[in-house]
Amino acid sequence: MFTIDAHLDLSMNAMEWNRDLRESVFDIRERENGLTDKPDRGNSTVSFSELRKGEVGLVVATQIARYVAPGNPLPGWNSPEQAWAQTQGQLAWYKEMETCGEMMMIENTNDLDRHVNIWMNRPDEKKAIGYILSLEGADSLVTLDHLERAYEYGLRAIGPAHYGPGRYANGTDSTGHLNENGKALLKEMERLNIILDATHLCDDAFWDAMEIFHGHVWASHNNCRTFVNDNRQFSDEQLRVLIQRDAVIGAAFDAWMLVPNWIHGKSEPKEMNCDLQKVINNIDHICQLAGNTLHVGIGSDLDGAFGKEQCPYDLETIADVQKIPSLFAAEGYSPNDIENLMHGNWLRFLQRAWR
Ligand SMILES: [Zn+2]
Repeated sequence: MFTIDAHLDLSMNAMEWNRDLRESVFDIRERENGLTDKPDRGNSTVSFSELRKGEVGLVVATQIARYVAPGNPLPGWNSPEQAWAQTQGQLAWYKEMETCGEMMMIENTNDLDRHVNIWMNRPDEKKAIGYILSLEGADSLVTLDHLERAYEYGLRAIGPAHYGPGRYANGTDSTGHLNENGKALLKEMERLNIILDATHLCDDAFWDAMEIFHGHVWASHNNCRTFVNDNRQFSDEQLRVLIQRDAVIGAAFDAWMLVPNWIHGKSEPKEMNCDLQKVINNIDHICQLAGNTLHVGIGSDLDGAFGKEQCPYDLETIADVQKIPSLFAAEGYSPNDIENLMHGNWLRFLQRAWR
């Protein structure tokens, strides 16, 4: 079934993990033999061929570069200008992948309709992976003029925060209300009709953003706090507000966000009983809160600095997202419900946002 994944860090993998996504995941793993510089070396689950095998024809793909102030222990760049330059390198990779026919940028409803039609109706062709450009963490926007430039080259969604303190908003594992820059960023995003990705906003910033921002909101890769009690996941109260705002919430496949008490670098998916059913449970929980299947989707994050060592054990590569429809059918979900969550909700959201 045609599938949309609302969160992949494809260019980060190409530029920082040095992965050529045109190779098979098995070749990518092979080439990383012996490398220990990243936690997920040799365990990648995402490549263009696996995306095609999994019928993942449209993704939300990120630019991502953090600014770190002196004393911030997280990895990142020492100035916003360096972070901006990093995102421009990431954009250059997406453009090269367009040139060689692997990817296709989707910027408006015309692009979207044409692309989805090709994926749904021309089964035998080698098709480009459509991507909507998103920015995870806004630190790299040196000024708001940079935001307008980014919109011009195709940026369509922004998560103002990532992990830790940010220049515009504080993110996961951090606290604090939006500063003046953060408020101004939201206003400018609203003016340009850029989608707000609520994922990674710390609780204070989340509630501020819900009040200040009147545009379209989604949560590209976010699970439920009711299963894993940590600030990275949303509480039922937050999920209810997102549902009221007509948001779609993408389920993430990162093991620590699926099962409680995960220890990074130590826990293993099998022993922690982390399987795709846990993804189903997160999506089902949001459907129960909403009373329908209209606010859920997939935002796997499967290349977000983790791989097989930290994802459901019954997933070998991203192609295994095609196991999800039958798991939902076993829960009593109708074919129409399953279409909603595999692609329909993201599509309708985009058509609404870009109308
Ligand atoms: Zn993330």
